[in-house]
Parts: sequence; C-alpha cells; structure tokens
Amino acid sequence: MTADRSRQSERTRLIHLGRSAPIEGVRPVNPPVVRTSTVLAPDIATMRANKARRDDGSRVFSYGARGTPTAHALEDAWAALEGGERALLFPTGLAAIAHVMITCLAPGDHVLIQNTVYPQVHNIRSAYLERRGIATSYFDGTVQDAAAKITPATRMIYGENPGSWVYDLIDVAALATLAHDHGALLVVDNTWASGLLHKPLAHGADISVIAGTKYVVGHSDVMIGAVVANGDLGRDLWRMQVVMGQTVSPDDAYLTLRGLRTIAARLPMHAAGALRIARHLEGHPLIAAVLHPALESHPRHELWRRDFTGANGLLTLAMRADLDMATVDRFVDTLGLFGIGSSWGGFESLALPQAPDTVRGWTHPGIAVRLHIGLEDPADLEADLSRGLAAIG
Ligand SMILES: *Cc1c(COP(=O)(O)O)cnc(C)c1O
Repeated sequence: MTADRSRQSERTRLIHLGRSAPIEGVRPVNPPVVRTSTVLAPDIATMRANKARRDDGSRVFSYGARGTPTAHALEDAWAALEGGERALLFPTGLAAIAHVMITCLAPGDHVLIQNTVYPQVHNIRSAYLERRGIATSYFDGTVQDAAAKITPATRMIYGENPGSWVYDLIDVAALATLAHDHGALLVVDNTWASGLLHKPLAHGADISVIAGTKYVVGHSDVMIGAVVANGDLGRDLWRMQVVMGQTVSPDDAYLTLRGLRTIAARLPMHAAGALRIARHLEGHPLIAAVLHPALESHPRHELWRRDFTGANGLLTLAMRADLDMATVDRFVDTLGLFGIGSSWGGFESLALPQAPDTVRGWTHPGIAVRLHIGLEDPADLEADLSRGLAAIG
C-alpha cells in the first residue's frame, strides 16, 4: 500500500489513481457515486471553516456544483495522467475549450489558431470571440507560420496535437517557446492522445484540454471534458469555473474514471488495428492516400515518433479523385461493421465521409473518409472494407 508511485509505470498507476476512500473501515473498489446538491456540516463553525478554505482556493466538498468526492477522484487521476497540478471537469470537451478561451482572453487580445483544430472551435471563433472584439487568425501548424503571424496582441496560441482529420502534428516545445517569448499561452487539445500517448504540459504547453468523451470514456456513452493546468493559471481557470457554474454529474465522473482504468489496455489495441488496416489500404487502387501518423508515409511521422508513445484508432482515407460523393457514400453504406456517426474513441468502428472542401487542411482532390478502428478483430474489418470497396470498384 505504500509503494512509491512516481517509480511505477503509467499502466500500473492508472489502476491505483483516484481510488475510493474508506467507508466503515473498508473500501469499495471504485469511488461511489455521490449524488447531492446540499452538503451537510455538523455545525456552523465547520461550515464556515470549509467556506473559508474554499474561498482561499482549496477544493472542498461543500456544494454539489463544486464537485463531489466522485468528481474529485476523477480530477486527481486526470491531473496525474496529464502531469498537471489541477484538472477541472466540464460537461463536454467543447465546453472545456470554450472555458479556456473565456477565461484567458479579453477584448483587444489576439489568438492564433491552428487551421485543423476540431471543427466546432471555428464556431467559438465566429460566434463568440470575433463578436467580443477578440481577434483571431489561423496558422498551418508549423512554428514558422506561427512566428510569421504572431502579433504583440497575441495572448494565446491554440493548437491540437495532432489536428483533426489530417493529423498534422505540432512541435509543442517550439510553439511553447514562441508563445512564451511573446507573453502568450500555449493551449493544446490533447484528445487524440487522451493523456496517455502525449503530455503537452511536459513539452511546455500551459494548458491541456481533453474531450474525455472519446477514448477516456471509451464506450461512447458519456460526454465529458477536462482542462489541466498548473499554478496560478490552474487556480484562475478553477475560479472562473465556479463563477460560471460549470460542473459535471457524479454519474458521468464515475463512468469516466472507470474508463480511465482500462485505457492503457484499449489504446494499443485500437492502434494496432488502425495501423494494420492503414497498411492494408495504402496502395489500394480506389484510395489515393491513407493518413495516419504511425505510417512512415505521414508527412509529420518523425514528430509523432519524437513526442508520442503510441497511436490511436483514427485514420483518414483520401479516395481517388474521380470518385464522386454518391459513390463514396455507397462504399460507406455497404460496410456492415462500421457505424455511421460522429465522434470516436468507443469500442465500435465508425466511418464518416466528408467533401474535400469541408475538411480544413485537406490537400487531396478526393473525398475524405475518416475511419475509427474499434476493438473488433482487424481481419473482420479488413474483409468488410474490401467488400465495400469491391462494391464500388
Ligand atoms: C470530440 C472532440 C472535441 C469535443 O468534445 P465533445 O465532448 O464532443 O464536446 C474536442 N476536441 C477534439 C479533438 C475532439 O475530437
């Protein structure tokens, strides 16, 4: 029980992080779901003392919206996974991103956004930031482009590692240096790696944001987001979370913590399936290119090797340029093992076609099809994909 956690491998730590406190001298395996709004104190003095500690910036179980022991256990586990001091929970990944922008940006500021970030971030930009007098511009993910576009008003560089659909990796350490030289923050969406395969804070990022909805939950049945940061920044983000009344349900926190226990077992299985299928489809006559960072052909493969300890189950197909949308739709509709729907990170494989002009950073003339490789046997998935391609070939 007194093993030195810092010397253990992450896989081992994931089993022991955020476990239950004793109840009647013994412990349930997982922290129980604590449902409450009111938290009862034994007397007024205790209530006041708790409030004073809370106002000082301490996390205190004092009101449902301030987090229950279930959520606190998840926060502790998530902070440890990301290597940060404080993790905050949000009802969705998108809410976590919005919270970071609302807290850290003010009218007159400028934010530099990686071109290929999660598409809904562009809505935050157009529907909120621009209307609040916060200027934005895009960069292509490279440090050179960011350096060319950074201005004295830039307060934040916002990236995603790797960016959605095309998996353009960013050099977090170099972008952090650039941001800090200009008095700006570097924020990294770490959903792809889900805290396990990449550690933005260790590379110099100020804030890591994760949509737990994807691989952390792992079962496509919970929406949740997290923000991880250190020091004063973490405290400021936490204070604004209280101001805004942002909180998560204890049931969702419970399920997310349960998902976290098995992520080190699931991710390598997704990744092995994805790499095998990526290699299988690379060179298929109907497919112009396969995008996946673990493929040697990926333009930023070396950066992935340098900064990541593994991959996940996502890959994107660039279909041959002469295949129109109706044909590509027929390919996806023919698949029997791939669900048709948004999101990813669950146990089931998914397929989603997208017109080339609607995918940011897309350099191919053909239609994009994003595959999420689930936990099925890759041999069965390969057979299914071959059947779907044969149907349109
Ligand atoms: C899905 C996703 C989000 C948003 O998460 P939700 O929980 O669906 O709001 C943010 N960033 C990335 C990279 C995502 O894939």
